[in-house]
Amino acid sequence: MKIPVLVPNIFDHPFTYNSDKKLNTGDYVLVPFGKNKITGVVWDHFEKNSNKEFKIKKIIEKLNIKPLDNKTIKFLNWFSEYNLIPKGMSLKLHLLSNEAIKKQKSIDYDQYNVKNKTLNFELSKEQKLVLNELNKNNKNFRVHLLQGVTGSGKTMVYFESIKEKIDKGYQGLILLPEIGLTSEFEKKFKEYFGFNPALWHSGISKKRKKVIWSGLLNGKIKVVIGARSALFLPFNKLGIIIVDEEHDQSFKQDEGLIYNARDMAISRASFENVPINLVSAVPSIETFENLKKKKYYFSRLFNRYKEASLPSHEIIDLKKYKLKNNSWISSKTIQIAKHHLEKGDQILFFLNRRGFAPYVLCKNCYKVYSCPNCSINLVYHKNKKKLLCHYCGFKSDLKRECKRNISGVCQFIFSGPGVEKIYEEVNLLFPNYKSHIFSSDTMNKKSSLDILNKIRNNEIKILIGTQLISKGFHFPNLNCIFVLDIDLSSQGHDLRGNEKNLQLYHQLSGRAGRTGNPSTVYFQTYNLNKEMISKLTSEDPFIFLEEELNLRKKNNLPPYERFISLILTSTNNLILDQDSDKLKKFLEKKINAKILGPVNAPIYKLKKNYRNRLLIRSNKSVKIQQSLALALKNFNFNSGIKLTVDVDPINFN
Ligand SMILES: [Zn+2]
Ligand SMILES: [Zn+2]
Repeated sequence: MKIPVLVPNIFDHPFTYNSDKKLNTGDYVLVPFGKNKITGVVWDHFEKNSNKEFKIKKIIEKLNIKPLDNKTIKFLNWFSEYNLIPKGMSLKLHLLSNEAIKKQKSIDYDQYNVKNKTLNFELSKEQKLVLNELNKNNKNFRVHLLQGVTGSGKTMVYFESIKEKIDKGYQGLILLPEIGLTSEFEKKFKEYFGFNPALWHSGISKKRKKVIWSGLLNGKIKVVIGARSALFLPFNKLGIIIVDEEHDQSFKQDEGLIYNARDMAISRASFENVPINLVSAVPSIETFENLKKKKYYFSRLFNRYKEASLPSHEIIDLKKYKLKNNSWISSKTIQIAKHHLEKGDQILFFLNRRGFAPYVLCKNCYKVYSCPNCSINLVYHKNKKKLLCHYCGFKSDLKRECKRNISGVCQFIFSGPGVEKIYEEVNLLFPNYKSHIFSSDTMNKKSSLDILNKIRNNEIKILIGTQLISKGFHFPNLNCIFVLDIDLSSQGHDLRGNEKNLQLYHQLSGRAGRTGNPSTVYFQTYNLNKEMISKLTSEDPFIFLEEELNLRKKNNLPPYERFISLILTSTNNLILDQDSDKLKKFLEKKINAKILGPVNAPIYKLKKNYRNRLLIRSNKSVKIQQSLALALKNFNFNSGIKLTVDVDPINFN
């Protein structure tokens, strides 16, 4: 009999095979494909209108694995259609690779065994109330937002909601935005539940991944904590999904297969018919709109746990307290910092720029160091003694022949501050206090747990941090934050600029005063936009979101319209321009939507490729993905042109 088999590769349809034995949808099978044998899954439909004539090959064997359930097959089909990702690639996300995940007999799952919880932890009255609300409607699919001020103990509340599900024999999935957070989170989990969750992210070994994959499928593993890709794991009996920090833009996979893991988690929950809890201090604008439309339930925690109070906010006017030459910390800031340090507080200088200096130029020939592969300046990293491209990883030494200097080499000026420069200044100003840089350059290594401990023990007194530090860390002694350059105007081309600022400064100020001591966040700025700063840091983010949503509505921006970015790339910019124009004209006849562009992308050259963008804007009620996918199948690109489709784009680089 003829059987449709989907294989994990770039094709958007199943292939037809022959089989003597009866097979069912969802069976994992080994099939010949080209010259190889690969694992595929018996799919729920045949390839549509295929006129191709070729010899039908025979299925080699049925694998001895519990079949893929219908709900997951439906989810993967939907995922492909929504994101314009070939079905075979969606299956690859589920299968991890092309080879078979065979049943492993002697796996020891002991560390994942459910034990009774060991921690004696009492929820506050407010937390208990919210927990009841979460558990009220949690039998079937529904979305519930848990919004709470930073430090209000949202995690403990949803841990309880998971526990209830585990007690009934279900499994839970927790999605986190950052791998950097998982080890600290794992510790918290273990303290609470008394057993290990399975951790799932790109840093986990292939061998461990196989253990987790089969452990979840056979129900031995109860809870998995993971980054985006955990969304595609098989479950024996999934009972609940949590998306923590749901607003975080790291949930958007921006390269390769592009999708938003938060949105896809909601759809997986709907196919599984299980509840999903979104958790955040400052929800995304999409989530906020769904609350307003009453599509989501929601609960709020207004108080910090154990009556800790939220930080107050002050502005340091840089017109009044002028910065000295080559200095980035004002005299007023120094005075306040000293006062806090003498009290024993930990302090943080926040600057969202990695490295030492964002521009390096020569004072004789004025040439700026830029990346040969990208249209981006190279950033000087003094610790590594290298110039780096933050986009493609290109490295260069700080040495260059000069055309206008008699001695023959360039003489460099380091323009603008990065955290490493602030670190130097801090060490000159406060030589008696231990300081540390907190950025992806210093916190991705094995030593980071040790550094986190030193910060928690108040051994490190001064932190100099980038955005990374705003992400959910708990530092009990941090009571004072200085934002060195709040710049609210720089994001002109980004429709999400305001929303991103709200989330950043809200999360950042949430790091201060978490154990009850009074705390303050200071903003050093030339631009005395008091109103803007107080809106960004208000205890109630809904006020800001309401305004932002009105603006979006007025301008027909998402979430009121559907945006789809088409990014064309090529090493040949002439062919790229031709194809971009041709594609626009072609699509205008085929789809019912407005098409903007083509324009050169803000980062025009990236990793040696030139980039053009088209933006499709359509009414949300139209099934634009379907007609777009069909149209794109019939468009012939010149060779060397690559197209990337980004549905619901977040970045417009
Ligand atoms: Zn580069
Ligand atoms: Zn020079």
